[in-house]
Amino acid sequence: MKKPFVTAQQLQAITQQYPTPFHLYNEKGIRETARALKAAFAWNPGFKEYFAVKATPTPTILKILQEEGCGTDCSSLTELMLSDKCGFSGSEIMFSSNETPAEEYALAAKLGATINLDDFTHIDFLKDTIGYIPETISCRFNPGGVFQLGESKEGFQVMDTPGDSKYGFTREQLFEGFRKLKSMGANRFGIHAFLASNTLSDEYYPALAGILFRLAADLQKETGCHVCFINLSGGVGIPYRPDQRANDIAAIGAGVKEQYEKILVPAGMDDVAIFTELGRYMLGPNGCLVTKVLHFKHTYKEYVGVDACAANLMRPAMYGAYHHISVMGKEDLPCDHVYDVVGGLCENNDKFAIDRALPEIALGDLLVIHDSGAHGFSMGYNYNGKLRSAELLLKEDGSVKLIRRAETPEDYFSTMIFE
Ligand SMILES: *Cc1c(COP(=O)(O)O)cnc(C)c1O
Repeated sequence: MKKPFVTAQQLQAITQQYPTPFHLYNEKGIRETARALKAAFAWNPGFKEYFAVKATPTPTILKILQEEGCGTDCSSLTELMLSDKCGFSGSEIMFSSNETPAEEYALAAKLGATINLDDFTHIDFLKDTIGYIPETISCRFNPGGVFQLGESKEGFQVMDTPGDSKYGFTREQLFEGFRKLKSMGANRFGIHAFLASNTLSDEYYPALAGILFRLAADLQKETGCHVCFINLSGGVGIPYRPDQRANDIAAIGAGVKEQYEKILVPAGMDDVAIFTELGRYMLGPNGCLVTKVLHFKHTYKEYVGVDACAANLMRPAMYGAYHHISVMGKEDLPCDHVYDVVGGLCENNDKFAIDRALPEIALGDLLVIHDSGAHGFSMGYNYNGKLRSAELLLKEDGSVKLIRRAETPEDYFSTMIFE
């Protein structure tokens, strides 16, 4: 059973002060997750997590992660600016972008961020933009084909198609790219790959590590480039559904260590640092969307209308993604009613849940929509003139702090030009 990190009683008090809808984050959970990740990779002295800013671009959250030793992973101008404003600098910032505008490379270089190139042609583009090639440089690898793991009767545990994805260098381009970058002045190299998203398998990172470690050993041997870090990027998933098993981060860290000792150590590469760029794993379960029941509608189905909508959490509408829902105060009642839980957009896909078994819902009930901490608020948009919600932090001492105010109509109108 999935339990909210906040009680019905706490939420009653919070909603006295802050109107729904809002995203609520769990400081204790964020810190515990960051510490568990760090402990899982403590065997690697250079280990660092670069939190994927796009998952939760909120200053207070980034600060908490910074206190836990994390850097940031950015892929746009404003994500770089946000990192800078939050006090991240130099090697604390990873810049893993694609189709990158010149001004973004210029800012990344100015901040001293580690630049992770997405394509061979970006080598010359970067040189032309900033006038030099940084000493430390990284390239994103795409092995092509299909990536799959853990075949069973139910199918593959992990399955994705890097060959269809727009990211990264081919193997040949990577060898040529490293030689070229070296000739242009680079001397500390990194490689990066992101082969599958939201994986629920302790085998994903170790399998990816195996691929990247072998590649790094070949690259160092054949090009003479010193590979200093290997970036396993994001992709470690979370159990959105109550019957799914959470990843065991300690087992994942141990699995990567095994590959490290099997491949890198014998290649004389025991100085390689391991980096991660996790977003979902760090924040997903540590945030939820809180919304209030406004209306019931009984037509061909039973609808529960809430004050949040897909503009606050887009994943169900966009991917048909499952997000668990708790009816607060009724967590222990039987789920003997079936509802569609819907928002107010004039879009028929604005449904947080379809045919969901829930306890009997009453007007005014508070619903917690779980696992909105990553790729939740951040994917929000203004369609139908909906305003972005507030973000709140449930602190370790049980108090609540506003960490982003809700948008106002003034914010919405601020970019419009009235003739
Ligand atoms: C989105 C993204 C991540 C984070 O992915 P998660 O699935 O949230 O772990 C990391 N690195 C890059 C380059 C990304 O685009």
